[in-house]
Amino acid sequence: NTISTKSRIYVSGHRGMVGSAIVRRLEAAGYRSLILRTHRELDLTNQQAVFDFLAREKPEYVFCAAARVGGIHANNNYRADFIYQNLMIEANLIEGAYRAGVKRMQFLGSSCIYPRDCPQPIKEEYLLSGPLEQTNEPYAVAKIAGIKLCENYNRQYGTQYFSVMPTNLYGPNDNYDLLNSHVLPALLRKTHEAMLRGDKTLMVWGTGKPMREFLHVDDLADACVFLMERGVGDGLYNLGTGTDVSIRELAENIMEVVGFRGSLVFDTTKPDGTPRKLLDVSRMRELGWQARIPLKEGLAMTYRTYVEEQKQLYQ
Ligand code: GDP
Repeated sequence: NTISTKSRIYVSGHRGMVGSAIVRRLEAAGYRSLILRTHRELDLTNQQAVFDFLAREKPEYVFCAAARVGGIHANNNYRADFIYQNLMIEANLIEGAYRAGVKRMQFLGSSCIYPRDCPQPIKEEYLLSGPLEQTNEPYAVAKIAGIKLCENYNRQYGTQYFSVMPTNLYGPNDNYDLLNSHVLPALLRKTHEAMLRGDKTLMVWGTGKPMREFLHVDDLADACVFLMERGVGDGLYNLGTGTDVSIRELAENIMEVVGFRGSLVFDTTKPDGTPRKLLDVSRMRELGWQARIPLKEGLAMTYRTYVEEQKQLYQ
């Protein structure tokens, strides 16, 4: 039951930020039997299509990186889509994987599905210990169901399905939509555009006081492959850096990376969301893994890729 570079590995959601980073990491390590399907080729909300695909392709290892995702605004405004699509995707993939005899599967949870007012830093065992943040409750309920599917398939069927809980992610192939994206890509784009226009100010939502932790998606992918190779077959693993910054500090760092010298203005008609969200990463540290890309360096890399992605878009 050991993974090799010849193992058949299915990465769902390989066009997304997380899936594409996992694919880059697997390819760099020499894995050469990757199974990939675009949204057009395989609709993961279609049960029969997913069962047929998994029965036919027989992957041995599966990364579940496909999901309907978005920032505070998208979560709050597409509430039905977020719960329905995520429930369907994960239920189809997990039951389909079980039927197809998949050896090991990794499910992507998120740090935003822990209770809203958790003690900090957040330990894995705090899941389901209190009420959820209202703005993303539909997404959280769906993702918690995915984690519980994995746990209970393991108990009933002896499968090896485990979940990772990444903190806020950033990196290549992120979503830079001004309204529906997360704070880091949104501020990177706003700052870039403010710099190009020669603005004097940069508008930041909320009070700037909430604290967030940011993990570069290449670090995340490294951890995902590390866990799959190591053969953990059950449980939850927090994936973060172990340190956080305020939204104000994030904005200041981004201004420095972009080279924008305006001042910050806070739009307090916009929601702050959870006051703080920092993961306890000791479980991963004990296994011998830790994040390597510091926020400043990650921001500079991401800004360069953003500018490249923009050029390609408008060529
Ligand atoms: P969250 O981590 O689930 O709360 O989601 P976000 O990444 O969307 O937002 C994190 C924090 O950044 C919230 O307090 C937002 O109000 C704040 N924020 C500041 N400016 C922006 C922005 O331009 N876009 C987004 N999405 N959030 C922003």
